[in-house]
Amino acid sequence: MTDETRYRPALQRAFDLSLAYLKDVKEGRASADRSCEELRARFDRPMPIDGEDPGTIVSKIAEAAAGGLTGTAGGRFFGWVIGGSLPSALAADWLAGAWDQNAALYACSPASAVVEEVAGRWIKELLELPSGASFAFVTGCQMAHVTCLAAARHAVLEKAGWDVGERGLAGAPAVRIITSSEYHGSITRAVKLLGLGAGSILPLPPDGEGRLTPDALERALRDRPDDPTIVLLQAGDVNTGVFDPFTDLVPLARRRGAWVHVDGAFGLWARTSPAFRHLLDGVEGADSWTTDGHKWLNVPYDCGIAVVARPEAHRASMSLRGESYLDYASKARDQMDWNPEFSRRARGFAVYAALCELGRSGLAELIDRTCRHARTLVAGIGALAGAEVVRAPVINQGLVRFLDPAPGADAAAQDRRTDAVMDEVLRSGEAFFTGTTWRGRRCMRVSVSSWRTGEDDVARAIRAVGAAVARAGA
Ligand SMILES: *Cc1c(COP(=O)(O)O)cnc(C)c1O
Repeated sequence: MTDETRYRPALQRAFDLSLAYLKDVKEGRASADRSCEELRARFDRPMPIDGEDPGTIVSKIAEAAAGGLTGTAGGRFFGWVIGGSLPSALAADWLAGAWDQNAALYACSPASAVVEEVAGRWIKELLELPSGASFAFVTGCQMAHVTCLAAARHAVLEKAGWDVGERGLAGAPAVRIITSSEYHGSITRAVKLLGLGAGSILPLPPDGEGRLTPDALERALRDRPDDPTIVLLQAGDVNTGVFDPFTDLVPLARRRGAWVHVDGAFGLWARTSPAFRHLLDGVEGADSWTTDGHKWLNVPYDCGIAVVARPEAHRASMSLRGESYLDYASKARDQMDWNPEFSRRARGFAVYAALCELGRSGLAELIDRTCRHARTLVAGIGALAGAEVVRAPVINQGLVRFLDPAPGADAAAQDRRTDAVMDEVLRSGEAFFTGTTWRGRRCMRVSVSSWRTGEDDVARAIRAVGAAVARAGA
């Protein structure tokens, strides 16, 4: 058997199965319809003693997974914040796998280092972030938080006379993180991983729209003014898409010597649209930003992006120099200087491909189109009998809920009704929505990030919710 014949059956199967899946998922189910037990029964067998044929393995994996996949690659997936994959980005990701490149150092894979260098620069240009900022392509926004907050931790403690890289946190001055109480859960995990502890987060009550107010921030900063401080701001709340007012808050925090970090997992991309860019005015003044490639940019999983305005702090918190067996580049960019990982996937190719496929105008159009679909969905669902719009989308996220028609139904009954309608939609497979508890009430989130969602998908999803409302009964 030649190498060629060894690869071909497996790769050809994967290619054919992928194309067939991407065609079917457009019209097919948006939710899985196989139970955990059924999936276990298919996958769980004694580990083979002898190796098996590659092509057959690929076919068997696809057979076993069928019905256990969610339609995130289709157009009717509105759960969490999940984008699809642009054709060129998916193909570039396949290539990165075939090339098997380790994007740790320039020496490991020169092309992987250079494509990241260019993609990183393009992203800074697109998002209008400082051209001198450093960046890293990581697994997701949470790990981008870890990366940025490691730089922040280094910088605020250095200012307090403490070298955290050398001495660690035991005995260090306490670092506090001031933010709105509606911050994303990934921040808690990042903060715990960094040893700062969830207790270092100081949540402030936001205004009615969900924005941190200058008064609240000023008061918090004035209290214990010498504490090493990170201010965390939100560019696109996960439930409502709301933005903190950067033009007011960033200079305020900077004046008080705080490091300003911005969670822009999806919202940062709104800056590329002339219709929404004003929401991000002033965001460029922060010290670090995170966003995702796998949400609104429609790059395949996984891809998060960390950008840091102070490269010295970023590098000091990540770089590992002096390891005798590594080859460091003198003129090129070694990703290990900026990334928390050692060995890693060459994520730059898919990002580069997505940016080329969309272009500036295509990206702006994608942002506008998905925001329009989100508005249509929320309005259409909100107009159904017994439905209510809780938050109309600021960008591509909105909230609705469903009211129990029984006279005198209490808040718990409304929550149950909302969950019951969501269950019905999920069972139908016509669309995929997820829930949230927002300010004490159960809501259904409406989130549109996929390039693949069209008018037909939106209309079909609204019909599906209408049918689910009817089935959920009174
Ligand atoms: C999705 C999300 C995150 C976490 O991103 P991952 O890519 O899943 O790690 C953080 N913040 C916000 C606002 C998000 O929407």
